[in-house]
Amino acid sequence: MDNVRIAQTAPPPPPTRELRGLGIYRERGDEITHEGHGVYTVPGCSGSTYTVNLAVFGGEECCDCPDHQRHPELTCKHLAAAAIFRAKARTRAREEQAARTTARASRSNVAALGAFGG
Ligand SMILES: [Zn+2]
Repeated sequence: MDNVRIAQTAPPPPPTRELRGLGIYRERGDEITHEGHGVYTVPGCSGSTYTVNLAVFGGEECCDCPDHQRHPELTCKHLAAAAIFRAKARTRAREEQAARTTARASRSNVAALGAFGG
């Protein structure tokens, strides 16, 4: 009486813009620069850099890459990379403050890397 299970042969989903943004962050995160007021310079694939505005003071998030010009309603990979960069910087700042305040700061926040924050 064997239970025959159907093998899961579904193809992997195509990488989303968010995942590609994570890739930019991982590979070239040290090239992302914070210009201030929610504006970031993010490296593109072809040696160019794009200016991303995360609209921290309200309004629309925007990026000057061709993908975002075509699909302004979507989060392009540069926007995603900048959002991850910002979330990590905030997490780091929070951890440093916690380490100062508490002698035994928990490191479990590092496990929450997948959360983009907002
Ligand atoms: Zn972009």
